[in-house]
Amino acid sequence: MSDIEKVTCLIIGSGPAGYTAAIYAARADMKPVLYQGMQPGGQLTTTNEVENFPGYPEGVTGPDMMVQLQKQAERFETDVRFGFITKVDFSGEVHKAWTEDGHEIHADTVIISTGASAKYLGLESEQKYLQLGGGVSACAVCDGFFYRGQKTVIVGAGDSACEEAHYLSKLCEKVTMLVRRDEFRASKIMAERVKNTENIEILYNTETEEVLGDGQVVTGVRVKNNKTGEESTIEATGFFVAIGHKPNTDIFADYINLDETGYIKYEKPGTSLTNVPGVFVAGDAADHVYRQAVTAAGTGCMAALDAERYLAAKGH
Ligand code: NDP
Repeated sequence: MSDIEKVTCLIIGSGPAGYTAAIYAARADMKPVLYQGMQPGGQLTTTNEVENFPGYPEGVTGPDMMVQLQKQAERFETDVRFGFITKVDFSGEVHKAWTEDGHEIHADTVIISTGASAKYLGLESEQKYLQLGGGVSACAVCDGFFYRGQKTVIVGAGDSACEEAHYLSKLCEKVTMLVRRDEFRASKIMAERVKNTENIEILYNTETEEVLGDGQVVTGVRVKNNKTGEESTIEATGFFVAIGHKPNTDIFADYINLDETGYIKYEKPGTSLTNVPGVFVAGDAADHVYRQAVTAAGTGCMAALDAERYLAAKGH
């Protein structure tokens, strides 16, 4: 595939935002081509049970839901491709993109739905129980429900960690919050709310040494006070990591306006427009606040409708 390929709508990324955009774009006869990216199915493929996506009264696993979304997009003839976009050039009227094997695509419209990746500590034990689905999570709103009445630990001291710790405190018997410095990064109001919640214990100057488990599920966390060197063990069945996300937007940085943390800035609030006409954004690549599958799907729909209107205005 060395020849330049011309497409009406190129969708980059395959989470709920990308597939929903594909469903709408395909039904509007835009013949979308969707590149799945590095992690086909996106962040949801690391979630066990999704119970908060409307329409699944019994819940659904993240991977199953993504397979169904892909099938739905393909039913309307979305061209779903395994592979990823490594470079773009949005400087001209035609939007150019290149795949990892050098294939060049010229697209009338582009929908960016590359999502964000949760940051993890990188400990071997953390990754082990994350892969096993055995009690490590980077999303309290997604997974907190499974720890009702249990003890959990959360790492982080930003607004996300505070919000998630507070969310967990309403479900769990006890939440232990591990803060690596002697102060919060979060806004004062968010930090105060956590400090004033009875069943949240805050351990300052405390870092995770190891996530403990029985080989299947998490049973506790070994921590170390980085001032005194003292080690201790906290009993817990859930280990939540809330140390930030990284939006997957690096390849767009030369053309698309990003905020200081790399999230794509909407050109016009309430739309999916970016600063480049014909390039739209959906999902977590532009959302550091809600980050839910259902909100990503909603913005995917918006992006496809905005792309369709853009084409219509150009006489397509
Ligand atoms: P932040 O980057 O703001 O905070 C990350 C936190 O994780 C920091 O406290 C940091 O510690 C800690 N951390 C990072 N790496 C490690 C590590 N290896 N071990 C232990 N702790 C670590 O990310 P957030 O996701 O909290 O927030 C991102 C943005 O979204 C912010 O601008 C925030 O204000 C915004 N936001 C707003 C919300 C709202 O207004 N409702 C809700 C959620 C997010 P340290 O402080 O020591 O660097």
